[in-house]
Amino acid sequence: MKILIATSEALPFAKTGGLADICGILPEALINLGTDVHVILPKYKCIPTPNKQVGTIKVQIGEKEKKGIVWEETTPNGVKFLFIQHNPYFNRDELYGDKDGDYDDNAERFFFFSRAVIETLKLLDWQPDVIHIHDWQTALVPLLLKTTYKKSSYARIPTIFTIHNLAYQGVFPTEKLYLFGDLGVELFTMDKLEFYGQINFMKGAFRFADILTTVSKQYAREIQTVQYGCGVEGCLVERQKNLYGIINGIDYNEWNPSTDKYIYKNYSNQNLLTKRENKNKLIKEANLKPSNNSPLLGMVTRLADQKGLDLLATIIDDVLNMDVRFILLGTGDRKYHELFVGLAEKYKDKVGINLKFNNTIAHKIYAGSDIFLMPSRFEPCGLGQLICLKYGTVPIVHRTGGLADTVTEFDPIAGKGNGFVFISYRAEEFLASIKRAIYTFSYKPDEFKRIQINGMQGNFSWENSAKEYIELYHRAISNVSI
Ligand code: ADP
Repeated sequence: MKILIATSEALPFAKTGGLADICGILPEALINLGTDVHVILPKYKCIPTPNKQVGTIKVQIGEKEKKGIVWEETTPNGVKFLFIQHNPYFNRDELYGDKDGDYDDNAERFFFFSRAVIETLKLLDWQPDVIHIHDWQTALVPLLLKTTYKKSSYARIPTIFTIHNLAYQGVFPTEKLYLFGDLGVELFTMDKLEFYGQINFMKGAFRFADILTTVSKQYAREIQTVQYGCGVEGCLVERQKNLYGIINGIDYNEWNPSTDKYIYKNYSNQNLLTKRENKNKLIKEANLKPSNNSPLLGMVTRLADQKGLDLLATIIDDVLNMDVRFILLGTGDRKYHELFVGLAEKYKDKVGINLKFNNTIAHKIYAGSDIFLMPSRFEPCGLGQLICLKYGTVPIVHRTGGLADTVTEFDPIAGKGNGFVFISYRAEEFLASIKRAIYTFSYKPDEFKRIQINGMQGNFSWENSAKEYIELYHRAISNVSI
């Protein structure tokens, strides 16, 4: 089976969030299961120019024709990457925008990229059996195949669209309709791209992709409701029969406390006491007051409203007035930067704050913390909780999306469960769950250890998820050929 994965970010080349992790590791897992995978993404400034040029393409956008150069590189892990170079759009310092906000030509940039994906097929002597696209940046591919390219052989290639986060749909003002040329008017209807008087790229995939997926079963259900559906729940309910949830895995080659090169001391569930050395060093490096007996609470997160930081802000003083230490790594909204800078000043001995993106520190926090906070308002899948489970760091989560599918409240009688879960998105509930965790840590060490081991024994590897994707690829292919 030949699979083309089109995405706006993928490791090891370009990353702003979890999408890059997934589009980096899923191809490897698919190849290990015997499929043939190409990944295509824009050639951003951060990506060195590969040696092999495949050819050039012409991409019609609006009245204009723009040129793209297609490059190819195979990673040491055997994944073939194709890159589309068009410097005016992609040779920039950031992927989607800078500190002043999103780039104002993102509609042009990703319209171009989506069309370039199809144009690139003309250059290759390799044709995909299925195209797997991700998030709004590539959501127009199925629509373009079924409209602009409807007379070509490519129109029959089945498409699978994965929603990684419904909060970002690629919504643009009507001025951008010019991109679609003559088709603009026809496409601007409620059953296609129109969305409250604007253009919504994701709606193109809701309407035209053969299969829709999202990254957990719970999130697949939630996005069909008004509460989580971000205004498009109706479209998703309509596609209910072809909407699936497949949980993400994590890359255990990178995220494994017994082999991790970034942490101070390796450990496993056989020698959990060694984990404490990671905690002590982390506390020391952060210049906090040493303490063996107080729990270290950790967070690694984008500083965005989605991540439950409003709840945290409400209760953080209550938490920090207890005997705890708190270390956070994150970057994002200014208001949260200010909040955490203020906390670090107020609680010098207890609070360590890193307002940046740094993979090494992330590893150290996952390994060194006792408890990990992930109170997300919504969470399509979430990687943080999967990583901390592997590191014996006990997660506290809001019961939503992928957090609900992967973390279960510890039941001391049955000895089952791998974390602490609060059900309603309310500050008091979050605080109560933190108190339960701290109590267990301080007064029930055996139970705390049981929770840690339960978490470490879980398996969220990519192999299982990749198998589920392959099943869906088969389904998409057989549907189309019927
Ligand atoms: P999202 O994609 O919504 O940001 P996920 O939990 O799915 O959330 O994935 C986030 C990924 O990015 C995790 O691997 C997490 O460890 C990492 N991450 C988030 N913020 C930082 C940061 N400031 N520095 C390093 N890694 C980070």
